[in-house]
Amino acid sequence: MLPSSSVHLRYAGYGKLRVETGIGSVLIDTAWRGRVRRPSNMLRELPPIHRLIDAPDGVALCAVFGRQSVLAALRAVLGAFRADIAADLQREPPSQADIFERAALHLKRQDMRALRPVINATGIVLHTNLGRAPLAHEAIEAMARVATRYCNLEFDLHSGRRGARTQGIEPLARALTGAEAALAVNNGAAAVLLALSALADGGEVIVSRGELVEIGGGFRIPDVIRQGGARLVEVGCTNKTRLQDYRDAIGPETRVLLKVHQSNFCMVGFTEEVGVASLAALAQSHDLRVVADVGSGLLHPAQGVPEPTLRQALADGADLVTCSGDKLLGGPQAGLVLGREAAVDLLRRHPLLRAVRLDKMTLAALEATLVLHREAPEKIPVLAMLAQSKDQLRGKAERLLSLIGFGAIEPSEAFVGGGALPEQVVQSWAVVLEPPKGIDAAAAALREAADPVVARIARERLMFDVLTVAEDELRALAAAVRAVLA
Ligand SMILES: *Cc1c(COP(=O)(O)O)cnc(C)c1O
Repeated sequence: MLPSSSVHLRYAGYGKLRVETGIGSVLIDTAWRGRVRRPSNMLRELPPIHRLIDAPDGVALCAVFGRQSVLAALRAVLGAFRADIAADLQREPPSQADIFERAALHLKRQDMRALRPVINATGIVLHTNLGRAPLAHEAIEAMARVATRYCNLEFDLHSGRRGARTQGIEPLARALTGAEAALAVNNGAAAVLLALSALADGGEVIVSRGELVEIGGGFRIPDVIRQGGARLVEVGCTNKTRLQDYRDAIGPETRVLLKVHQSNFCMVGFTEEVGVASLAALAQSHDLRVVADVGSGLLHPAQGVPEPTLRQALADGADLVTCSGDKLLGGPQAGLVLGREAAVDLLRRHPLLRAVRLDKMTLAALEATLVLHREAPEKIPVLAMLAQSKDQLRGKAERLLSLIGFGAIEPSEAFVGGGALPEQVVQSWAVVLEPPKGIDAAAAALREAADPVVARIARERLMFDVLTVAEDELRALAAAVRAVLA
């Protein structure tokens, strides 16, 4: 240590100080500290990846996590620093130690969790591979409340006796749909399976050939019917089925007329199908039941989505209507069965129910989501996404573009997806980029970013549709894009 009296500081031109001591002098570039530093200079001072990976800390990380993962982590961390510098959040260049510390944290986090959040820039709101509906905060809170403590899952607090597991959601589902009775199970497929097992009871189920659909992931309606112990009777042709076709197929073993919403394909041209109301009238005259699998579970007929609402299918006379909890209902993975008390009661007493019942956290999230449908539907993320105006979406795309710093914005056609009509387009906006080094490589690198990004590829370009990107994801999305493409 030098005695302070022997140290003199002299101004040596803009941004420069000369420090003179008894044993010599050094020139200090004060642009290294404080606001004098320009983001463009700081960006240039970030160390290149190849130098980091070959530094001792880099080599040490590679030994534990592998070179590819370390490269990806360094890219992500540098990208995040770049974004922070550009946004004036980082006023000094990070030290090499800072960079390695962040990279190590990154790698440890990734290492622990296989299931991670991703940024969905596909513009497909209900993307089954990306976990369908994001949950509302209210639903998360409800889950946490019952997950961390004991709860009255199957306990009637009034009588002190055993209670029904879905007692909380039943009155809500009834009030929202007009159904006499309701039941919730593990998912939409389980709802169909249980409904057909209980109502067909080994007999025949009549379904149109135009509705023998595979819903995705190998889930086929005919297989579900067979699993339920029922025999499938197909009627009509792929493109046309008439009421007379159903009538002709009814025999002594017939129990159920099944109506399946065509979730993931659409027929155009010469088509004809029979609606729930006509099937219900036919069923009544033959003492049969009508089950309508509507798929998406739309509660409010708004949002310009021409999906059948649950209320409509019930009003048309279906004995049971089934849907998913995590499509347009906007809740957790679940299946709802709604309908006549006598029919729902058969399901409640069916042994299969035990195998497809819901856990306490899902029930809590489903209950909270149904409460929101009644009180504040705009807080349900899926509905909020679909309610964004074109101007809002354009503004969001402009913000994303300025965070990325290159590319262009243009109108985009987004989709509801996941069991809503596949051709149902939502007008949106996107940032569009043409990666110089190949589109597939860029898309792959984005998927493996620290905050994985799934983009849409259209006409040899990468599109980042903002319909499905939350405002608080824009910065991370931009950082990932810059790290991969800048
Ligand atoms: C999505 C869908 C199902 C399956 O529902 P899951 O919740 O995914 O099990 C069944 N039928 C139709 C018509 C659907 O759209």
